Amino acid sequence: MLNIVIFGAPGSGKGTQSARIVEKYGLNHISTGDVLRAEIKNGTELGKTAKGYIDQGQLIPDELMINILAHVFDSFTESKGVIFDGFPRTIAQAEALKKMLNERKQAVSIMLDLDVPEDELMTRLIKRGKESGRADDNEETIKKRLVVYHSQTAPLIDWYKSEGIYSHIQGSGSMDAIFNDIVTAIEKAAK
Ligand code: AMP
Repeated sequence: MLNIVIFGAPGSGKGTQSARIVEKYGLNHISTGDVLRAEIKNGTELGKTAKGYIDQGQLIPDELMINILAHVFDSFTESKGVIFDGFPRTIAQAEALKKMLNERKQAVSIMLDLDVPEDELMTRLIKRGKESGRADDNEETIKKRLVVYHSQTAPLIDWYKSEGIYSHIQGSGSMDAIFNDIVTAIEKAAK
């Protein structure tokens, strides 16, 4: 089983690189942001709850998020492994993921930290907002999401370092060069 956490600030390229990893390694993909946006689109109760947080640039409460994640994870059959994109975002979520995988006799193989300078993140997200119309990609909400990233999510870097599965990836530059670095890191971890 190859279980990968793809990590990084909003706009660091997690979604783009996940798609390429999925294609190369045949993994299942869980993007918690995509799951929540689908719930909003379908007008579910969960979607209504999630929208309130997403529009404010805040995180959905851990307990809710952890339940959603386990539900999606268990829907995969005959899986070669999973790429977790946008999860975990807090230490509590990382601990819950470890426990969930443990209970299923699995573990995270590698955490890939896509590191991109802050000014580049801003430029990328504003551009994405214009192109995709994603409601939370406006300057005010982006700023809030970056604050949340630094206070609640970035501490996971040290958490995964102490787990011994942290891998730093230079996240600016060409998409191909970034993907090459990712593949090198994965192959090393999978040995
Ligand atoms: P993303 O598409 O990963 O940038 O996520 C968009 C928004 O969905 C975030 O700003 C959060 O409000 C919410 N979200 C996605 N994943 C999580 C998570 N693991 N924990 C809490 N909130 C999340």
